[in-house]
Amino acid sequence: NLTAGIVGLANVGKSTFFQAITNSKLGNPANYPFATIEPAEARVVVPSAELDHLANLYGSGKRIPAVLTIFDIAGLTRGASRGDGLGNKFLNDIRHVDGIYQVVRGFDGQEITHIEGSVDPTRDLSIVQDELILKDLEFLEGVREKVEKMSKRTPRTSIEYKDHLFEIEFLNRLEEHMYEGRKIWNFKDNTWTENEVAVLNKHNFLTAKPTVILLNVGVQDYVHKENRHLQEVRDWVEEYSPGSQLLLFSAEFETIYNAQNVAQPFQSAMSEIILEMRKSLGLISFFTCGPLEARQWTIREGSLAPEAAGVIHTDLEKTFISADITKYTDLAELSPPLQESQLKSQAKVKRAGKNYLMQDKDVVFFKAAA
Ligand code: GDP
Repeated sequence: NLTAGIVGLANVGKSTFFQAITNSKLGNPANYPFATIEPAEARVVVPSAELDHLANLYGSGKRIPAVLTIFDIAGLTRGASRGDGLGNKFLNDIRHVDGIYQVVRGFDGQEITHIEGSVDPTRDLSIVQDELILKDLEFLEGVREKVEKMSKRTPRTSIEYKDHLFEIEFLNRLEEHMYEGRKIWNFKDNTWTENEVAVLNKHNFLTAKPTVILLNVGVQDYVHKENRHLQEVRDWVEEYSPGSQLLLFSAEFETIYNAQNVAQPFQSAMSEIILEMRKSLGLISFFTCGPLEARQWTIREGSLAPEAAGVIHTDLEKTFISADITKYTDLAELSPPLQESQLKSQAKVKRAGKNYLMQDKDVVFFKAAA
């Protein structure tokens, strides 16, 4: 189960966004386990028109969507990396999430105090990003010290010794990169060797996490898809956080949208916000469908068929024999009742072996040894 944390300065609309996304009317809440686990932790459904269509097509009794867990993390202030304010608690909370929503204020309004004194989203983006980089630098120093100590106790001819040397050298390169004000995520355009990935996976650096930037604007701006800061923010992202997605949204609009039960002329941004995070995390979906249930499963891009089977059940990965794969696009235009024999006779169902690379939206039936 993957997690995302909401990060930003105080008073930029983080809690309002969190409330809005947890109360969101995506899909059909009555059938879904919308659960607020704790006041600051919520599970939200990943909206999927495909799942709805498949459940209908297969006459499935139940629909089980994928979920994303979202944490509302205490606000960040300038100096958080030095432990000012709620700094340290904040940084511990965020170390454990997989992805980051960075909420930044783009809405005007004198009545809402800005802790930095004025509305200036690119300044705020820099403050938050710099704090995360500073914290990573401090953390990196501690990690490197530990590895250096270990390497001194390790025989020079061993493989471990070579690994330690590699790690130290790699940490040095990361440090140099961060001293230029850059996030780890943007190191070498986010292309990594296997050894580098192994080191990164050990340490949970804050700036190695994918980020979706949410510019929180007023209702009018959201409806018209414009904001006086938008171009400047786009330029900032391109320069200082390349590869991060930037989305325009309005916490205020979402709150109003949720409170009304009538069809709206304007669309909520929540679907896009959730789907964008999944994409940034490198996740894709596959579906299993039958009369009992239609279910959406989450895997990493690049997963092979047995790994996908392992997500359903660990045993299924070991006993995997083959997978019958149907492309969603071959099912999209059909209406119930589904004739599976027809799909087979038209060769829409393909038998895949253990080296099959899973594609987004595959509809799968696994065969396993008894
Ligand atoms: P947090 O400290 O980042 O969690 O910020 P809050 O969500 O508590 O919001 C701070 C204040 O800004 C509250 O009074 C909100 O009602 C207000 N606010 C949040 N989003 C918007 C928005 O999109 N437009 C306007 N006008 N006010 C907002």
